[in-house]
Amino acid sequence: MEPIEKKGTKKIRVGIPRALHFYRYFPFWKKFLEELDVEIILSPPTNKKIVEEGVTHGFGELCIPVKIYYGQVLKLVREYPNLDYIFVPRYVAEVKEAYFCPKFLSLPDVIKILPKVPKILNFEVNVKEFPIATSAIELGKELGKNQNQALNAYREAQKYFDEYHKFLREGASVNHALRLVERNRPFTLPKKKHKGDLKILLLGHSYNIFDTFINLDFQKKLRDQGVEVITIENLPESLFKEPVIINKRLRNYWRHEEEIMQAIRYFLTKGRGEIDGVIFLISFACGPDSLISELIMRDMKVVGLPFLEITMDEHSGSAGLLTRVESFVEMVRRKKKKLGLDSKKKETIKI
Ligand code: SF4
Repeated sequence: MEPIEKKGTKKIRVGIPRALHFYRYFPFWKKFLEELDVEIILSPPTNKKIVEEGVTHGFGELCIPVKIYYGQVLKLVREYPNLDYIFVPRYVAEVKEAYFCPKFLSLPDVIKILPKVPKILNFEVNVKEFPIATSAIELGKELGKNQNQALNAYREAQKYFDEYHKFLREGASVNHALRLVERNRPFTLPKKKHKGDLKILLLGHSYNIFDTFINLDFQKKLRDQGVEVITIENLPESLFKEPVIINKRLRNYWRHEEEIMQAIRYFLTKGRGEIDGVIFLISFACGPDSLISELIMRDMKVVGLPFLEITMDEHSGSAGLLTRVESFVEMVRRKKKKLGLDSKKKETIKI
């Protein structure tokens, strides 16, 4: 494939759909591509029209995040017909022990067949087969850069991505951090940190919990009920080192689901008492999530930690969701109060 050559000051224009792994890797992609002199065109936040268009092009049983991806690609293509490329990375495995969902493995091939899509700029992450640096060199070559330039860009991007993760572990929300990245602003925590009388761990794929259109601004609904929300991005790196062994012999081979199980293991053991409840947002028709959701539910029952699973699709309605959130939060609050009263009673008896 011949690289596109741009003479003079005109930069290569690359469109990035604001969907799927955007919510996980955008800071890395942005730094990496900008270091390679690329102009990034980001699609807008998800809206009704984007979802409708994605649904039209995605077949019925496809999960909603992938349909949104289609809609975001089509939006970019229509609004920016002069894009040189559209960035559609192929994430296969970023650690040796686990895979990404098959939907990610085939993404560049599927997107290629959508109407009027420009050339696909691929970036394949598959550490089972080759180091990520190899893909960085390949991508640089496609953009007309030499090996040194590509590797320097890759190192800079990795450094920036580490800073981004450190910021999240200090307590920043992903949406806040991504806004700063988009605006090229330094990583600073908001002056007022939201505190609540309840702390809830919100689980789910980043595209489910940080795309505020498709989840009907779920985190805001919780905050409005006086809940402090944490996500796995806020947890220390050390929790994600050891694999989770299910039933003493089985290992989870889905990358993100493994991270969710690792977080849960912490709150079932050392971190017990640090949270008041768990909510898991999953997409309709998501195989990997529905499997681990069952395992999590069983564990939660054993330790008596309130757990709510919410399945989302393009038909989810705000009123129904709010009712479920309100009743769950109310139940958690009552439970916490009762536990507090019970422990006080025990202390009184001891005296
Ligand atoms: S993990 Fe689930 S929600 Fe995500 S792309 Fe795969 S099927 Fe869809």
